[in-house]
Amino acid sequence: MQPSNERSHAPMFFLVIPCFNEEEVLHETASRLRTKFDQLIQDRLADPESRVLFVDDGSKDSTWKIISELHDEDSLFSGLKLSRNEGHQSALLSGLLYAARYADAIGSMDADLQDDINVLDQMLEKIAEGYDVVYGVRNNRDTDTGFKRWTAQTFYKFQKSMGVDTVYNHADYRVITKRVAEDLGEYKEVNLFLRGIIPLIGYRSCCVYYSRGERFAGESKYNLKKMVAFAVDGITSFSIKPIKMIAVSGFIIFLLSLIALIYLLIGHAVGNVQIGWTSTMASIWLLGGLQLFAIGIVGEYVGKAYLEAKRRPRYFIDKVLLTDTQKHDGKDVTSD
Ligand code: UDP
Ligand code: MG
Repeated sequence: MQPSNERSHAPMFFLVIPCFNEEEVLHETASRLRTKFDQLIQDRLADPESRVLFVDDGSKDSTWKIISELHDEDSLFSGLKLSRNEGHQSALLSGLLYAARYADAIGSMDADLQDDINVLDQMLEKIAEGYDVVYGVRNNRDTDTGFKRWTAQTFYKFQKSMGVDTVYNHADYRVITKRVAEDLGEYKEVNLFLRGIIPLIGYRSCCVYYSRGERFAGESKYNLKKMVAFAVDGITSFSIKPIKMIAVSGFIIFLLSLIALIYLLIGHAVGNVQIGWTSTMASIWLLGGLQLFAIGIVGEYVGKAYLEAKRRPRYFIDKVLLTDTQKHDGKDVTSD
């Protein structure tokens, strides 16, 4: 940063952090962020009234209690409490849309600080340069377990082959401007996959690289079941290629069975009628399995259409803890 290029007006910056059972990490996260925000404010990258917005995604532990205590001690920390566990993406969305009311720039990050907070400077500089979306991209995955790394990489590659356009090695660590957050609110789908939607919004974007650290306490809140659900959503919410693939594979299997039929008829004509029971059963099972699989994929889309058609609300905000920023008369919007 060059002192000659001093900004007269630093952006009101809100950092949204979804939290699900994060009691073990919150104090540490908060103290690191306090230090970081002091520095960002001093460097005029963020307005002094900037906020960290924790979104409690229906935690069962003392997460909300800790957020309330942090808020009482320091107005930097604010909180939203969702009425129940809605999942990472919905929690994040609720925070982004809420923050868009007050902020010029809105960041998102995980509670475990696996993403390096020291690149926030660079991200905010990019916003000041006029970018609307700044993606945090990790340049290593050394600290993830082998299994996590493998599943994540396979997921990215699979998605790409399915025609879903995401930024490689980018999770939900990014900074967007107010207008991008507002535009995000125009996407009404219930099946949310923010990494796929943000690139669709457009505007000028860029990447900032960092190395991803380890979760310093607690366990990953994504179990295998949540990861698989997330991966399936990530594809079926954006691409109809799987449906096309079913049609193609169905056609190929049909051709193969015609050839098999010819072979069997010739065998029959020649008098060789001892067709093996095993192979008959095998083909029944194989085709039965394929059909079920195909129906399952179609069902996935039908199910999506059903959920979207209902237009159900994606989340409810139970409580808000936010000492309103000076821009808005210093009014306290805390509600219980
Ligand atoms: N999270 C959430 N709701 C959920 C699951 C996770 O808000 O149902 C939050 C979690 O508290 C964390 C972020 O999403 O801040 C990412 O989760 P985690 O760090 O466990 O995922 P990983 O880094 O293992 O992918
Ligand atoms: Mg994590």
